[in-house]
Amino acid sequence: MAKVPTKTCPICGKPAVEKYRPFCSARCADVDLNRWFTGSYVIPARDDEPQQDNALPGDNEDDNI
Ligand SMILES: [Zn+2]
Repeated sequence: MAKVPTKTCPICGKPAVEKYRPFCSARCADVDLNRWFTGSYVIPARDDEPQQDNALPGDNEDDNI
């Protein structure tokens, strides 16, 4: 039996399933995905976006008369 080395699920440690690599199940894939939203992987918030106080261009053209 020449078995391909099975990787283990990073979530629960069970052997990973081809279909859900590198996880063992859709459930564990879900758990990993949720980590992105619960803050395990912290994505720095960006505060440097320019604030636009003006309305859309052309919205104030009435003042130019
Ligand atoms: Zn798992």
